[in-house]
Amino acid sequence: MEIKVAKFGGTSLACAETFRKVKAIIEKDPSRCFVVVSAPGKRSAADHKITDLLYACHSRVCQGGGYDDLFALIGDRYRSIAAALGLNLDLDGLLDEIHQRLPYEQHPDYAASRGEFLNAILLAAFLGYEFVDAAGLIRFNEQGFLDLAATEELIEAKLKPGMCAVVPGFYGTLPDGSIKTFPRGGSDITGALVARGVKASVYENWTDVSGFFMVDPRLVDDPKLISLITYKELRELAYNGANVLHEAAIYPVSEIGIPINIRNTDCPDHPGTMIVKTIADLESREVTGIAGQKGFVVIQVEKALMHSEMGFVRRLLSILEELRISFSHMPSGIDMVSLVIHKAELNGKLDQVLHLIRERLNPDKVEVIDEIALIATVGLGIANRYGIAARLFTALAQEKINVRMIDQGASGINLIVGVESGDFEQAVKAIYQAFVS
Ligand code: ASP
Repeated sequence: MEIKVAKFGGTSLACAETFRKVKAIIEKDPSRCFVVVSAPGKRSAADHKITDLLYACHSRVCQGGGYDDLFALIGDRYRSIAAALGLNLDLDGLLDEIHQRLPYEQHPDYAASRGEFLNAILLAAFLGYEFVDAAGLIRFNEQGFLDLAATEELIEAKLKPGMCAVVPGFYGTLPDGSIKTFPRGGSDITGALVARGVKASVYENWTDVSGFFMVDPRLVDDPKLISLITYKELRELAYNGANVLHEAAIYPVSEIGIPINIRNTDCPDHPGTMIVKTIADLESREVTGIAGQKGFVVIQVEKALMHSEMGFVRRLLSILEELRISFSHMPSGIDMVSLVIHKAELNGKLDQVLHLIRERLNPDKVEVIDEIALIATVGLGIANRYGIAARLFTALAQEKINVRMIDQGASGINLIVGVESGDFEQAVKAIYQAFVS
């Protein structure tokens, strides 16, 4: 029997009207037997996301303040959905329990997780599906990292073929039983884990767009939609700033080859974007997508004969490890190595990094380039065809954009250019125009 896992994002479950759309989608295909949900999102630009309100309640608790006004907004949202759908459940009892427990929780994760918890209970009642709490399915280890083996085992044991269930996204439990959440947007990861655990034929990720665009629609008007993309390409794009799907949601399904299908709750007949392991027709592929981000700093370290000095790069990277800074890229030359780090990662520690580099590595020169934007042009064709880099750099040159850094990542399918942050939008547009056919 075919099993599909359908994950619905916050905008797809923000109000009674969207709940009805979700029900129609589920009922259209009986193989959609496992559903994973986010917390209610915004109904309009001025609205609140329930998860944000829950985090705000926790902050108020920490500051010793009251949170009843915020909690009332949360309660009202769920009550209005339940009332409009005519659901018969003890919502007040559930809300009271959460309200009372909030002041006793030191970490924000319990509060944050309740958005998905309540939404899953509501949707399960509306669909006539079973509610299965993610607390008993998703396991983290003592260090707070996902325990994939234990999670897989629990899902296999509890979500049996023939069942129809709704599972809240975003959270699981630590070995001591306390609630732990994934990073923001993490319900995508829960969906992927459930798809893996039940061996789904496809992981459907229902959102408010008809798939993955070739470039961010905020940067280019009406960009082309990608109908087919590989996990590898998507991972490169997601890592480099494209956000439709949480990047950590790819591995659990890609490892065992379950395709991901991004779909639009508002256009349920649109086939969306299919994310697969391999594409047979490589001939037709060149650039699949373009993504980018501003706010990087490049630290260039230069030292004559660096390449013959054993352990130079190890010592350089150990400085970052010591300061708990993660770098994004590390292009290198014979006597030069650059560290490309996002400002949010550096978190004010740049001077400390420079001081330790000078002290421990005795470089000839250390230079910092501030305010760099990285643009990743991704496609299987980049590794397999000639002329793509030439088109990309010609497009940038025609716009008189100065390229400050080039890195064709180790995967070979990702050509990254660093430009000044001020040139970012124009550079993305120029690259897109060079490859859109
Ligand atoms: N509700 C959580 C968030 O807003 C998780 C999710 O929606 O994926 O980040």
